[in-house]
Amino acid sequence: MNKPSIYGLTMEQLAAWLMEHGHKKFRASQVWDWLYRKRVTNFSEMNNVNKECIQVLEDNFSIQTLTEHVRQESKDGTIKFLFRLQDGNLIETVLMRHKYGLSVCVTTQVGCNIGCSFCASGLLTKNRDLTSGEIVEQIMNVQLHLDDRGQEERVSHIVVMGIGEPFDNFQNTVDFLEVIKDHKGLAIGARHITVSTSGLANKIYEFADLKLQVNLAVSLHAPNNELRTSIMKINKAFPIEKLMDSIDYYLEKTNRRVTYEYILIRDVNDHKAEALQLAELIGDKRHLSYVNLIPYNPVDEHGDYQRSTPEAISEFFDTLKKKGINCGVRLEQGADIDAACGQLRSKQEKKKEKVN
Ligand code: SAH
Ligand code: SF4
Repeated sequence: MNKPSIYGLTMEQLAAWLMEHGHKKFRASQVWDWLYRKRVTNFSEMNNVNKECIQVLEDNFSIQTLTEHVRQESKDGTIKFLFRLQDGNLIETVLMRHKYGLSVCVTTQVGCNIGCSFCASGLLTKNRDLTSGEIVEQIMNVQLHLDDRGQEERVSHIVVMGIGEPFDNFQNTVDFLEVIKDHKGLAIGARHITVSTSGLANKIYEFADLKLQVNLAVSLHAPNNELRTSIMKINKAFPIEKLMDSIDYYLEKTNRRVTYEYILIRDVNDHKAEALQLAELIGDKRHLSYVNLIPYNPVDEHGDYQRSTPEAISEFFDTLKKKGINCGVRLEQGADIDAACGQLRSKQEKKKEKVN
């Protein structure tokens, strides 16, 4: 049987597990230090940990469960990794370089069941949730790759925006966040972490209650129910009013700014009327709102959708600005390496189908 990745345990869970297996609690911080600071990939290298403890860890856990299947590097420094999971499934992880640091975009599920009409991953349907360990390990593998390059580079920011709906894999996502935030481990600041959801309102309440200090992004993409339902069927279960109620609750609990993601698809959701409606929708919370305008990234699977024209993008942006809404246009990265959500994976899956 495959052993789970040890990266999936929070520090507390690791300490509890070790004590249950007859070891001292302090071993947990030693092991933690080896995993996240010294970043060894074999238990046997943990040379201040006694043999019995190493043995029990080796018997029950793996450190690495992912293998690199493909790696593509863009001219702008973006690196896209395609990892193979122990069960053979492929997932993708992207490293992006910004002025403010290095950010990694992680995947939370194999495929996605939300089925948004514009998304390459939506068509694949969910095969399974990733474990917390598999989500952490994506970051560890990117960090180990950077370590190998010897430039002393560190992953400083995380975006949970790869394939999958993190709030449809809620507990594993929360455990993952606890692990990467831990001060004795990777110590990635909560304010440097953003979780993006397609708008599972019920989970937004739960997330607010956890007070993790992590940033929340909501994929809105349309300012009214008719349009939103036509491109995101999740809007039937959680229509805009319900979604906005959950966001009000989140704002009240956390007082933290929410980002609204809005992809601009030509002639679908990019008219001035929609910009005005969007401004109306979030107007009363504009002080705690930011709209991220994302020029649509065309994917083979949806040939009928195109990116908005530069004029339409500018007009949309200007309209929001005039209404006092904080907003920006996301710059594209890695355009030459299929860096859009799900694209590399879906290409590889197609190749696989051809081979099989
Ligand atoms: N499931 C979550 C997180 C993963 S998707 C969510 O939907 O929020 C991350 C972001 O990429 C979402 O805002 C999603 O709408 C957007 N996205 C999906 N396909 C895209 C495409 N082809 N071009 C641009 N953005 C896309
Ligand atoms: Fe799933 Fe997000 Fe893609 Fe929608 S946009 S199908 S929720 S990954």
